[in-house]
Amino acid sequence: MAKIVMKFGGTSVADLDRIRHAAGLVKREVDAGHHVAVTVSAMAGETNKLIAWTRELSERCDPGEYDAVLAAGEQVSAGLMAIALQAAGVPARSWLGWQVPVRTSGLHASARITHIEPSELNRRLAAGETAVVAGFQGVGPDGRITTIGRGGGDTSAVAVAAALKADRCDIYTDVDGVYTTDPRIVSKARRLEKVAYEEMLEMASLGAKVLQTRSVEIAMLHRVPVRVLSTFAPEAGGTLLCDEEDIAEKKPVTGIAYSRDEAKITLHRIPDRPGIAAAIFGPLADSGINIDMIVQNVSEDGRKTDLTFTVGRGDLAAALAVIEKAGPAIGFRDITSDKNVAKVSIVGIGMRAHPGVAQTMFRTLSEKGINIQVISTSEIKVSVLIAEEYVELAVRALHSAYEMETA
Ligand code: ASP
Ligand code: MG
Repeated sequence: MAKIVMKFGGTSVADLDRIRHAAGLVKREVDAGHHVAVTVSAMAGETNKLIAWTRELSERCDPGEYDAVLAAGEQVSAGLMAIALQAAGVPARSWLGWQVPVRTSGLHASARITHIEPSELNRRLAAGETAVVAGFQGVGPDGRITTIGRGGGDTSAVAVAAALKADRCDIYTDVDGVYTTDPRIVSKARRLEKVAYEEMLEMASLGAKVLQTRSVEIAMLHRVPVRVLSTFAPEAGGTLLCDEEDIAEKKPVTGIAYSRDEAKITLHRIPDRPGIAAAIFGPLADSGINIDMIVQNVSEDGRKTDLTFTVGRGDLAAALAVIEKAGPAIGFRDITSDKNVAKVSIVGIGMRAHPGVAQTMFRTLSEKGINIQVISTSEIKVSVLIAEEYVELAVRALHSAYEMETA
């Protein structure tokens, strides 16, 4: 007998038939003797609809009320799921964030879960009742409802699993697992049986959309075994997130991720002296703008150089405004920016042991005539910034260069 958390995303609870279907999957686990906590997202499209309503009334509405409205999406699906379970003969009860409680920080719309109180949920599970927890929401230090950021349903599920010390967390979604890359770009993309936490963390933060990055962080921190599997074909197998040691054969590259949410800024002819990087990136950090890749050229004359960095596309205008304002303190000749860029990354724990992995990437891109604008690396990833129109070509070429279609 195991303790399982089952998470159903928006498409898995999109209408009443799907909720009935999902309840059937829960019933199967309950009938097998397991204790089950379910977490749900809002029905597909609901969160967007609720956001649009708040915006129609006020473009910049009170963040606390924004959360009060958004949390309603998960309240509906949690209640409906409990009803569907009861109708199928499974004793069940819905739980809103504040009822559990799921405690969070007070930063509305992107709060962080700080503690989930497991005692009452555990008591109910032990008594044979299935708990249906509304995902995406919690309660802040002041007792007000909070939400934890778009796509936060994954994070709620893993955090509940960690708090309950569940044996596993099954994320039911509309794809049957984590793929070597986006199957819409590469038709031969292959489902991965296993992915190491660290790899998944890189892949999620580099653009793979299967899981919210924060959910992978929590899974890794608490060593929660997470399975990603399809609601519509669970028997297909899915992908298991696990420890690196549990992966026998480590290929140099496990996955290829890409992100179009990139913009590049170059400052020309900045002074090459101590304190300049701090003068540039300090004000950007103070404004809450995340910097990703950075390159600085050597200065030819020892006095002036160029510096290029990337930000999220949505932050470009704000970043340019901050730099303009800090201009006198930095001292540069001019700024140029480019939104027509994208980042392509290769990720794999096997990279540590295989030399020449980055070289294969650079050669492959050069053979396709794709110019690399910026490079950044870590122990288990190499990212390049290229012109956006080459993303698909680059991903396809890399997928075959690393022979990723074959296991
Ligand atoms: N309903 C929320 C959203 O759409 C959370 C989630 O589905 O993960 O962002
Ligand atoms: Mg999602």
